[in-house]
Amino acid sequence: MKKIVCATNNKHKLEEIRHILREEFEVLGLLDIGFDEDIPETGATLEENASIKSYTIYNRYGIDCFSDDTGLEIDALNGDPGVYSARYAGENSSYEENVDKVLKKLNGKDNRSAAFSTIISLIIKGEEHLFEGRISGQISTHKSGEGGFGYDPVFIPDGYDITFAEMSAEIKNTISHRALATEKLVAFLKTLE
Ligand code: IMP
Repeated sequence: MKKIVCATNNKHKLEEIRHILREEFEVLGLLDIGFDEDIPETGATLEENASIKSYTIYNRYGIDCFSDDTGLEIDALNGDPGVYSARYAGENSSYEENVDKVLKKLNGKDNRSAAFSTIISLIIKGEEHLFEGRISGQISTHKSGEGGFGYDPVFIPDGYDITFAEMSAEIKNTISHRALATEKLVAFLKTLE
């Protein structure tokens, strides 16, 4: 099976990407290639952060790789937390602290529309290609479910009445922002064969 490097050490993310690509690629994480540094996400957009991560690895090792950067965009919060999703409640904040901050900010608000957006930056043969996956939904009024990670316990995708965290990995990994972006990545990689 062909190998591809995903520029992340987030074990939840890696697990999902491995699940989504399980029939096409063996996905190596950064620890698998001996990289254990933190890549600072200093970009102002998801695109910039995704590029920073994939170019950091490409420039160091010269290998084809991709990275994913994801944000939760909430309409009533003018698109926040967006690019700040990982540290919404402060540097090194936990998933739970970030979710609690979102629930607090939306307390009493009727408009709970939101969307997850994932941008994948692929660097192959020295050239960058970007792919987006997006899913709309609603922020629930309380946390439900044990699956997934991050904001999953409060995100109800359109067309469902349960949160991402209440779904099986099978379903989340078929409909999610990350799944949609990864499908575009796979379709592109297939055109290179
Ligand atoms: P990252 O910068 O792409 O690692 O993602 C930023 C933050 O978005 C993470 O720390 C999570 O809180 C959140 N996030 C990313 N992907 C997901 C997901 O699939 N579900 C819920 N939250 C996510």
